[in-house]
Amino acid sequence: MENKTEREIKQEIRELTLSYFNKGKQQFAVNTAVPKITFDIKGNRTAGQARYSENRIRYNFPIAKQNYESFLKRTVPHEVAHIIQRTLNFNSSPHGIEWKRVMRFFGIQNPERCHDYDVSDVPTFRRSQKFRYSCACSKKHYVGKAVHNRIKNGVEYKCSRCKQIIKYNKE
Ligand SMILES: [Zn+2]
Ligand SMILES: [Zn+2]
Repeated sequence: MENKTEREIKQEIRELTLSYFNKGKQQFAVNTAVPKITFDIKGNRTAGQARYSENRIRYNFPIAKQNYESFLKRTVPHEVAHIIQRTLNFNSSPHGIEWKRVMRFFGIQNPERCHDYDVSDVPTFRRSQKFRYSCACSKKHYVGKAVHNRIKNGVEYKCSRCKQIIKYNKE
C-alpha cells in the first residue's frame, strides 16, 4: 500500500461507504437515512460494526490500515449491507437472505464466505487473529496473537470461572 495518511484513508473509506450505500438504496428502493460513519472501534478483533439503532457504521482504523484492500473489499460492503438489510426487513437476521441479496448486488458472489469472517452477529471480526483455548469448564476462551505468544513463552493464564490454566486447542 502506498503511504496514505490517516486522513486520506478515512476519507476513502467514507466515500466508498457512501457509494455502496447510495447504490444499495437505489437498487432496493429503501428509504434509509445516510448512516453516520465513525472510526471508534478499538482493539484488534472487530473490524466493523453496523449499529442499527443509531443508523451508524463503526470502523476500526488500525485494522483498516493494516488490511486496507480486504477492508475496502469486504468490511465496507459487509457493514453497508447490514444497514440496507435491516431496512428491507426489520426482522431479518444479520447474515440472512436479505443481507446476502444485498452482498450479491454489491458484487460479492459468495457472501457465505464473507460470513465466516464474522465470529458472531453484527460486528465483523478478524477471525485469523484469534486462538481458541479451553479449560476445565465450558467457558470459551479466545485470545489474540500477543497473549498467544506470551503463553507459548511460558506465561500461564487461568480461567476466571474454573481457575484452571487454559490450554491451546490446535485446529
Ligand atoms: Zn456481519
Ligand atoms: Zn474454566
